[in-house]
Amino acid sequence: GIGVLSDLKKLSVIGRGNGGTVYKVSHKQTSVIYALKVVRFLEDMGSAMREAEILQRVDSSEYVVRCVGVFDGGVGDLCFLMEYMDVGSLHDILCKKKRLSEQAISGIARSVLRGLQYLHGLEVIHGDIKPSNLLVNTRGEVKIADFGASWLVSSTCGDRSVDACKGTCAYMSPERMDPERWDVGRRCDGAAAGDVWSLGVVVMECYVGHFPLVGPGEKIDWVTLMCAICFGENVEMSAVKMASPEFESFCGRCLERDWRKRGSVEELLLHPFLHKFDMTSTNNGVEDLV
Ligand code: ADP
Ligand code: MG
Repeated sequence: GIGVLSDLKKLSVIGRGNGGTVYKVSHKQTSVIYALKVVRFLEDMGSAMREAEILQRVDSSEYVVRCVGVFDGGVGDLCFLMEYMDVGSLHDILCKKKRLSEQAISGIARSVLRGLQYLHGLEVIHGDIKPSNLLVNTRGEVKIADFGASWLVSSTCGDRSVDACKGTCAYMSPERMDPERWDVGRRCDGAAAGDVWSLGVVVMECYVGHFPLVGPGEKIDWVTLMCAICFGENVEMSAVKMASPEFESFCGRCLERDWRKRGSVEELLLHPFLHKFDMTSTNNGVEDLV
């Protein structure tokens, strides 16, 4: 394994977000490439610790980016060493390709749902499923990353320090936006449903080529967003009326506003949209991602 941070050589910056800075690094002795995420420990100790705890817990799924070590970076930094996903995020891919085929989307949805099944089974709610947190490699694998907004259902039930507004509001489910139903969004069943909603927004974005809950080119401010998520007159459904009935139905099951009626991860894993393409090819239909 990798003992110390000085065994690593920084090659370039591959991501900069509110959570920290992500570097492409190489292990000096073996030349193996990794991603190193550096988060400011001192700024928000609770959330850095939670991200570290969760990353170390979710270490054995092929649908979740693997963390191979957590280091003290000195000067108030905490460092997570992770497998390097060489194609980048789904956000990067969408910037280049604009729209994806239903077959590619089906492969993405299947991987994300299997990742969510694994995470929810460990009582981990991701809390921030969106294109920039879904990473791809040249093998065509799609994995869930970034546990900076995640929480453990059992330990944080009713813990308001895990603030509801962590994570990106644009992909947030209606029940998480509603302060009066705040606790529902945190409970195990309700919270898991929130990740499914976010996946629905993501798959639709892959299909229409822009953030799908508002019109193309429309300014996305807080009020527009809030209205679209909580009261929108199915803007999203008109966007996919050219799609196959299976895809339209899949989107509808994810974007059901009432979380009790929304498709569960288990139900969606059996949905016809995930099974309509020939998946005998080795790359699961994600070949046009790489
Ligand atoms: P933040 O909390 O700042 O959003 P992320 O963990 O989402 O941090 O990482 C930010 C960006 O860095 C990602 O969107 C992605 O582009 C890149 N990135 C993160 N982890 C990896 C990785 N393991 N392999 C390749 N790129 C990565
Ligand atoms: Mg992120």
